[in-house]
Amino acid sequence: MAARPTNQVCFETLQFGKESYSLENYRKIGGYEVWQKVLRGELTRDAIIDEVKKAGIRGRGGAGFPTGVKMSFMPRTAPMQKYLVCNSDESEPGTCHDRDILRYNPHALVEGLALESYAIGATVAYNYIRGEFMAEPIPRFENALKEAYAAGLLGKNIQGSGIDQDIYTFVGAGAYICGEETALLESLEGKQGKPRFKPPFPAAFGLYGAPTTINNTQSVASIPTILRKGAQWFADLGVKGSGGMAIFSMSGHVEKPGNYELQLGIPFPELLEIAGGVRGGRKLKAVIPGGSSCPVVPAEKMMTLTMDFDTVRAAGSGLGTCATIVMDETTCMVKTLRRLARFYHAESCGQCTPCREGTGWLHRVLTRIIDGKGAKADIDMLVDVANKIEGHTICALGDAAAWPVQSFIKHFRHEFEYMVENKGRSVVDDLPQVAA
Ligand code: SF4
Repeated sequence: MAARPTNQVCFETLQFGKESYSLENYRKIGGYEVWQKVLRGELTRDAIIDEVKKAGIRGRGGAGFPTGVKMSFMPRTAPMQKYLVCNSDESEPGTCHDRDILRYNPHALVEGLALESYAIGATVAYNYIRGEFMAEPIPRFENALKEAYAAGLLGKNIQGSGIDQDIYTFVGAGAYICGEETALLESLEGKQGKPRFKPPFPAAFGLYGAPTTINNTQSVASIPTILRKGAQWFADLGVKGSGGMAIFSMSGHVEKPGNYELQLGIPFPELLEIAGGVRGGRKLKAVIPGGSSCPVVPAEKMMTLTMDFDTVRAAGSGLGTCATIVMDETTCMVKTLRRLARFYHAESCGQCTPCREGTGWLHRVLTRIIDGKGAKADIDMLVDVANKIEGHTICALGDAAAWPVQSFIKHFRHEFEYMVENKGRSVVDDLPQVAA
């Protein structure tokens, strides 16, 4: 296999090892050169947005919406304060790349926030960071902000340019739902993190009722490199419809779990090999390609896919956050689904009846099956409840709870039936290689 380019965007500073996060090392890769161009009046707002659009970068936070298009939604000339909010509330199970950007290359995010704020006409940006990131990500980002202010890169009338730019850190309290953009805004305003009804969308009525753009950490941190190396360079790294590189968080039953910054469109078998293959040389059973809310894909199908937004979607799942959860043949799909169902039940904010009650039903019925008290009709009831949640809630958490149920039962129904028939015994309990 020919060597693929790695670590060329958000992880570029990893080449400097332990001190990858310092301002000095960020400058060595051309850090803040683009921001200096803005401060010298050499780069316009429109040019930044056009370049990000041309790069073809799609949001790395899960929805995959084109970042440049989202930037263009901001009514820049509206005579009021506008805001940029960065979503570093990384909580989707399986996803662990934003925390590493904050740990190893926080200046890319600081410069990205400054550039995007300028492009959309905001002078204030907030970075909403997950509260559990207290150990390294938050202090490193805070330190990067301090360095940038001390170097005269942020503040009021920066370097006499007439440009004001302030960036603040906000630390969340650990609720998954605050990763939903309007729940995040509520939380930032000091209220309970509960999603808002939409419309109005944040671009019209966001933080404190003002026009607001919300982007994911990795999307924002990619902007300086896109502008420094060119939109075409970035787009060519990926494939049509999925420009650039992305950080794949490889977890589950692989030999070398971790974050890998690689080209979008990489064939899944190659990605799996880079992560050391399936642990112990076991057989692959299934993969959740983009974080726990994406539908599961059986091994045979997964091995034919390339890892880009359109291909994975056409296969009935989603690339989501590029958090790839690998499951080998020893995985009990019923117990795995129960674990996921418990998570969504616990994280439901409780506003909508289908989500609040339905996620509890899913968890309880799966527990009944695992306890050996299930009936065949329970399997159809799980699908029925999931169908009644999907598309009937205020935010996407309802869908996120429904899709795993629908897809696990669609592809692995025999495991659910086996467990019902055998009073709670899992199909994997009777695998010869597991028993041995
Ligand atoms: Fe809350 Fe669930 Fe409704 Fe989202 S779908 S608003 S999490 S109850």
